[in-house]
Amino acid sequence: MGPVGIFGGTFDPVHFGHLRSALEMLETLGLAEVRLVPCGQPPHRHPPRADAAARRAMLELAVAGQPGLRVDARELERPGPSYMVDTLAALRAELGATPLCLLLGSDAFLGLPQWHRWQELLSLAHLVVMHRPGWGLDQSPASPLAALLAARRVHTAADLAAQPAGHILLTAVTPLDISATAIRALIGAGRSPRYLLPDAVWEHIRARGWYNAAAVTAE
Ligand code: ATP
Repeated sequence: MGPVGIFGGTFDPVHFGHLRSALEMLETLGLAEVRLVPCGQPPHRHPPRADAAARRAMLELAVAGQPGLRVDARELERPGPSYMVDTLAALRAELGATPLCLLLGSDAFLGLPQWHRWQELLSLAHLVVMHRPGWGLDQSPASPLAALLAARRVHTAADLAAQPAGHILLTAVTPLDISATAIRALIGAGRSPRYLLPDAVWEHIRARGWYNAAAVTAE
C-alpha cells in the first residue's frame, strides 16, 4: 500500500485551504489516502467553537464523494487532550510498516516544538510541510527545527515511500489564504463565507446558526 497521509486540525470549520491541500498531497505524493483527523481537545489553543460532533459532520460533508479523502475520528473518541503522537502510535500499530506522512501547514510546523513529545513524531511518521501563505519557511526557522530539517530533509515523494517514517519534505500547495478564524469572523459579522468552503458545509452551518454572534462564547 502507498503511504498514508494524516492531516490533523481543529477544522472549526473545514475550508478549501484544508481540502485543496489534502487533495494535492494525495495526488502529487501518490498517497493511498489522506485521513483528516479532527482534534478532540486541542492542547495548545482555545477550545473549538463548534463541538466534536459538529466538526466531524462538517468534515464528512466536505469529503463526501471524493475518493482518497476520509475522516478519521479517533481523537474525538479518545478522552483527554488530543496528542498527535498518540494518534500516530495507534495508526502505526494498525498499519504496520506502511509509510505514514503527517501533513502540516508551515504555521503548524513552526509550532512543532510546543507539541507533546514532538521529538518522537519522526520515529512514527514522515513530516510533509505544506507552504501556507504568510508563514514562510524561507527565513531559516529557529533551531531546533533548523537542525531537524538539516538532518532529515528529503526532496522527493519516492524518498517518503521508501521507508515508514523519519523524513521531512517541504512542498508547495496552491496558496489559498483562507483560515477558519476568518470564516468564523465573517459569519459572526453577519457576512457570507461562501466560496471559502464547500457549499454543503456552509448550508449545514447556516441551517443551524453555528458561529453566529449570538451563539458565541469562546472567542
Ligand atoms: P484557525 O484559523 O481556527 O486557527 P485554520 O484555518 O488554521 O484554523 P486548522 O484546523 O487549525 O485550520 O489547521 C489544520 C491544519 O491545516 C494545519 O496544519 C494548518 O497549517 C493547515 N491549514 C489551515 N489552513 C490552510 C491553508 N489555507 N492552506 C494550507 N494549509 C492550511
